[in-house]
Amino acid sequence: MRVTLLGTGSPIPTLERAGTSLVIDTGNENFMIDCGPNAVYRLIENDIDYGEIEDLFITHHHLDHNAAFYNFVFTSWAQGGRESLTVYGPDNTDTLIESMYDIYEEDLEYRKDIYPSEGITNIDTVGLHDEFSTTIDGHTITALSVSHSIETYAIKVTDHETDKTFVFSSDTSKIPALTDFARDADVLVQDACIGPYDEEEVPEEGLVWEQYRTDSPYSGDTIYESHCSAEDAGEIASEADVGTLVLTHFLPYRDTDEMYERAERKFSGSVVIAEDGLELDI
Ligand SMILES: [Zn+2]
Ligand SMILES: [Zn+2]
Repeated sequence: MRVTLLGTGSPIPTLERAGTSLVIDTGNENFMIDCGPNAVYRLIENDIDYGEIEDLFITHHHLDHNAAFYNFVFTSWAQGGRESLTVYGPDNTDTLIESMYDIYEEDLEYRKDIYPSEGITNIDTVGLHDEFSTTIDGHTITALSVSHSIETYAIKVTDHETDKTFVFSSDTSKIPALTDFARDADVLVQDACIGPYDEEEVPEEGLVWEQYRTDSPYSGDTIYESHCSAEDAGEIASEADVGTLVLTHFLPYRDTDEMYERAERKFSGSVVIAEDGLELDI
């Protein structure tokens, strides 16, 4: 399988990192995990035929993981190709769809004459939970409830032909269940939101939130209860004995060299700093 990281940032908008989104190419199908800000533009940049995506997993309803949802649903429908769309997610995922039909009722009616007849009125929702399992093109997808500020799921994808496994932690603090879930995975893409600030990374222009010029407002206890640090990520990867650890979900202007070293001190396998557009062949 090929995993493309479309967005590797946080809720704070920067031009370098979009909100969280990933695409998994199974060989015959593409499916998507999360749909954070800028996801549609990153799909185009990465040359992914997103009109044919029929499965979208939303790990949790934080804006940095779902804010491009309506943009994705409308533009992928306009592209044509899909016969249906299934959205998997926590409680309230159906509200997202119902709200869309409500808010865009007239817009949808207007566009029905322009866009394909299929793929917009038949959007299904499926709830994620710890016993969840489904299969897409010979790949089994399972979920694990993790520890974040709201209901959130890590996702595991196993290719039965190659026996390769990919795990995405989503947003979580370090919990033993995640280590068990990620055990022996070939690649773990892991929340490493907590990391040292690097003043030299702050641009002269293009800073969206001015308060980030000096330090992070996300420096209180809340973030430690709901995210991992680079050290945590390294420990999880080591305890789970994964092949490759990919650090992601970066706040703006982090010292990623230092984060790499902190993860490497805990984990002897290979460590990668995620970038938007990074492709992982697993
Ligand atoms: Zn979150
Ligand atoms: Zn997040």
